[in-house]
Amino acid sequence: MNNENRVLSIEIYDTTLRDGAQGPGIKFSVDDQLRVIQALDELGVHYIEAGQPASNPKAEQIFVKVKGIKLNNSKIVAFGSTRHPRVKVGEDPNLNSLLRAETEIVTIFAKSSSLHVEEVLGISLDENLKLIEDSVTYLKQHNKKVFFDAEHFFDGFDLNPEYALKTLKVAIDSGVDLLVLCDTNGGHLPHQVEEITRRVAKAYPNFPLGIHTHNDTGCAVANSISAVIAGARHVQGTINGYGERTGNANLCTLIPNLQLKMGFRVISPEQMKKLTYVSHLVAELANVAPRDWDPYVGKDAFTHKAGMHADAVRKTKISYEHVDPFLVGNTTHITVSELAGRANLIQKAQELGIVLEKDNPQLKKLLQKIKQLEHEGYEFEGADASLELLILKTMGMYKPPFHVVSFHSRVNQWAMDRSAESEATVKILLPDNTFAHTVAEGNGPVDALNNALRKALEPYFPQLKSVHLDDYKVRILDAQKATKAVTRVLIESSDETRQWCTVGVSENIITASFNALIDSIEYKLLKCPGNVFSKSSKGED
Ligand SMILES: [Zn+2]
Repeated sequence: MNNENRVLSIEIYDTTLRDGAQGPGIKFSVDDQLRVIQALDELGVHYIEAGQPASNPKAEQIFVKVKGIKLNNSKIVAFGSTRHPRVKVGEDPNLNSLLRAETEIVTIFAKSSSLHVEEVLGISLDENLKLIEDSVTYLKQHNKKVFFDAEHFFDGFDLNPEYALKTLKVAIDSGVDLLVLCDTNGGHLPHQVEEITRRVAKAYPNFPLGIHTHNDTGCAVANSISAVIAGARHVQGTINGYGERTGNANLCTLIPNLQLKMGFRVISPEQMKKLTYVSHLVAELANVAPRDWDPYVGKDAFTHKAGMHADAVRKTKISYEHVDPFLVGNTTHITVSELAGRANLIQKAQELGIVLEKDNPQLKKLLQKIKQLEHEGYEFEGADASLELLILKTMGMYKPPFHVVSFHSRVNQWAMDRSAESEATVKILLPDNTFAHTVAEGNGPVDALNNALRKALEPYFPQLKSVHLDDYKVRILDAQKATKAVTRVLIESSDETRQWCTVGVSENIITASFNALIDSIEYKLLKCPGNVFSKSSKGED
């Protein structure tokens, strides 16, 4: 990268709500769309493509609704195609829907590949140029800023470079404000994108260029960077790379790459700190689980496991982290594992809000305990709540608020024409030295146990009423003792303010589930304000 680029700016154009929404399983309601727009505005994205108003009547709604919210950084863009070959420009429903969207900017897409013009559209090459000319001129007459998406540009250039360039020339002559080169099929590689973009930049020097890539070769982000190296200063993509097939260029990777690695001015440092939050929010709204291994914003992007490795990270962050996670709103995570050393555990405890002194004699006991449990099949990486309880108990910082005296659960098959019923019994010793002995039914033995536990504990601990069990995962581990397999159960719980995860392991699935349930309940009670059952978690006692 040469020095002159270091102060240059790049514009970001987000198409999560249009191209991204075409991804499998991704669906945004109008309310979701508005929340995505607000989040993108906070992130400082320059342009937000809110949809294709002509695609269906519902798609026009967002352009009406968005007028009701104040945007500080972003401009809304409407997207649509050039006029239909058999319709006059002023009567074209698509172009008129773009005008009705009342945005300052519109993006129109047109075919730049001779193959697509002749074989798909079924018109002559000259006719296609006329569609471009008419459509751009019409939108310019209505005082729109016009971005020109050259669809299939790279494929078209491979096949017939003169024609591909000619479509751009007509667009420029008709008054477009920006040319966007699209790798619509996503089949190109970085060196090809760089070479072709360079040739366009040479053919039309100083004309603003943009890039729109798809990830079919796994190179969407790299291809966008190649186009930037060749002179593009406008980059299109989607949050988390959502999009058809293998997705679009991932803005959550591209934005930090362009700014933190290449020195372009893209968004402000304060806005950059919202990147992780925006990535996770959009995933939640799209109803897609976030990918923990995503660069920059993934939960594991800055996670360290091995003992020595984590020790080095604790001492000097740059030793194992390519950027400071704080810059993109992420954090360093240390996971506890069989490899974990003392430093690792201290750091992890700190993350959970527990201060452990390095020379505390109990620390050795805790490390041994964790190693033993991991050997038995426990894994605390996804179960911070169980780990926190374990640390507090082992270090003598916590006393459980109740004791389980006994429990059992069984499935009754009464008759062939009735489904099986589950029933569970628990006996609990409460803090006032009385016993709660309850029985309950449920959908399966674990549900029955949960119901019996709640029945026993809720009269004494009404705060448990707000706890929900969100997820229940069972994993059968390889037989470690040759004859018996071990079951590991992970339970995710939540209340109105937090979410936590607990783990239980046993040769018996009911016992494993019961242990994870008890941890979930104890954790809730531990975190309730004013609980009197735990000693100070800071160890001051
Ligand atoms: Zn696309």
